[in-house]
Amino acid sequence: MKIVVDPEKCRTSGNCVVICPEKAISIVDGLATIDETKCDLDGICIPACPHDAIRYEEDQE
Ligand code: SF4
Repeated sequence: MKIVVDPEKCRTSGNCVVICPEKAISIVDGLATIDETKCDLDGICIPACPHDAIRYEEDQE
């Protein structure tokens, strides 16, 4: 499982950057980018996004 950002929906509002307790999200080249080495998958950023751009995704086999 991981957290992913939909580049079509992300408007770089930055809400996720501010709310992430692990400081795992940064804006890189106009897209919210999640550092998987810091993310603990708490899901706090998902409802924080006003554009519904963040979601859980199953790891690909
Ligand atoms: S799931 Fe939690 S730790 Fe991971 S990026 Fe979102 S707010 Fe940060």
